[in-house]
Amino acid sequence: MEKRIALFPGSFDPFTRGHYDIVMRGLKLFDEVIVAIGYNSKKQNRYFPIEHMLQSIESCFEGEARVRVITYSELTAGLAQRIGARYLLRGLRNTTDFEYENSVSQVNRHLYPDLETVFLITSPAYAAISSTIIREVHKYGGDVSEFLPYTLE
Ligand code: ADP
Repeated sequence: MEKRIALFPGSFDPFTRGHYDIVMRGLKLFDEVIVAIGYNSKKQNRYFPIEHMLQSIESCFEGEARVRVITYSELTAGLAQRIGARYLLRGLRNTTDFEYENSVSQVNRHLYPDLETVFLITSPAYAAISSTIIREVHKYGGDVSEFLPYTLE
C-alpha cells in the first residue's frame, strides 16, 4: 500500500509545544510526517534563524524515524507534489485560524486537487500558545521555555 505522507508546513518561528502536539497526533494518522519550515510572503524576516529552528525541531524527534524536518521556499502545494505527500496537516486553534486556513486550503485544492488538507483541533492545553506571542515575550527577555519542546541556546 502507498505510504501515507503528510506535510506539516509552517513558519515555525518558533516551533512550539502546540506544533509538537500536532505532529505527534499526526503520527497516529499517517505513516510519515514531514515538518516543512517555509518562508511566506508576509513573514519575510524571521526572528529565529531557520537553520537553528531546523536543528531544534530535529532534536525533538531524534528517536522518531517517521518524522523528517526540511526547509522550503516554494509553493506548499508544489512541494507536496514533489515529495509525494498527499496530505497537508494543519492545526486549528480558533475562528481566526479557521478563516485563514479555509481560504488557503481552497487555493491548495485548486492547485493540486489530489492534496487533502487535514485539520486537527488544538489540544486545550496548547490553544493559547502562538509563535507571535512567544517572539514578543522572548524579545523582551521573558522566559518562554515552558512553551517550547526543546531548549533554546
Ligand atoms: P503559518 O505561518 O503557516 O500560519 P505557523 O508556524 O504559525 O505557520 O503554524 C503552522 C500551523 O500550526 C498552522 O496550521 C497553525 O494553525 C498551527 N498552530 C499554530 N500554533 C498552534 C498551537 N498552539 N496548537 C496547534 N496548532 C497550532
